[in-house]
Amino acid sequence: MVSFEEKDRFAIERDTMVRLHLAGRDITDRSVLQVMSELPRECFVPSKYESKAYADRPLPVGLGQTISQPYIVALMTQCLNLNRRCEVLELGTGSGYQAAILAKLAKQVYTIERYNQLSESAQAVLGRLGIDNVQYYVGDGSCGWPEPKQFDRIIITAAVPHIPQPLIEQLCEDGLIVAPVGGQYTQDLVVCKKVKGRLQSKFVCGCRFVKLIGKYAFDET
Ligand code: SAM
Repeated sequence: MVSFEEKDRFAIERDTMVRLHLAGRDITDRSVLQVMSELPRECFVPSKYESKAYADRPLPVGLGQTISQPYIVALMTQCLNLNRRCEVLELGTGSGYQAAILAKLAKQVYTIERYNQLSESAQAVLGRLGIDNVQYYVGDGSCGWPEPKQFDRIIITAAVPHIPQPLIEQLCEDGLIVAPVGGQYTQDLVVCKKVKGRLQSKFVCGCRFVKLIGKYAFDET
């Protein structure tokens, strides 16, 4: 159980994270800064990492997976240019932190995770925080959402060698995809817009993500 003093400490750390690592760099979207200044990141990390929850670095969440660095989460969210009418698909639920941010900024979030254990624990955290506009699916996100559906925005939170074709098909015309595209060790973060059925891609920055493992992504080994 987190005590009042600890809660207060986290509030100060959260504020420092937003001022120093997000607003202090190139995160200018006020709605992204606001949501990240309110969302308790400490709830999304294993208890032994709570004290590091606001460091600007990824942290282990179990099963060899990570919660991404706050700056990258903010940057990817900013690239999505969200509004309250957006339906968003996320690949890689992980801890649920990114899904929670998306849920606060969009109409509905659909998130896919490969590991049941991670999906269940993310569902529990978001449930405790009262976030109820997220649908969860356990499976291979590289194949897209399992039912026919079109999304205004898609965010891939693990490395892909290329944007999986099923996701291009599930993206609305003029919709945006943000993703780390490249090799299994380093990637380019890109934001792509669907124009006349094809993706127009823009480089954002270099990055390093764990692999998306799936039929239209990387092999397990
Ligand atoms: N968005 C997460 C968060 O906020 O904590 C971080 C995601 S972590 C960097 C990447 C996640 O992608 C891992 O949880 C991993 O299990 C998941 N993953 C890998 N391959 C996948 C696939 N084919 N479909 C869905 N999830 C996958």
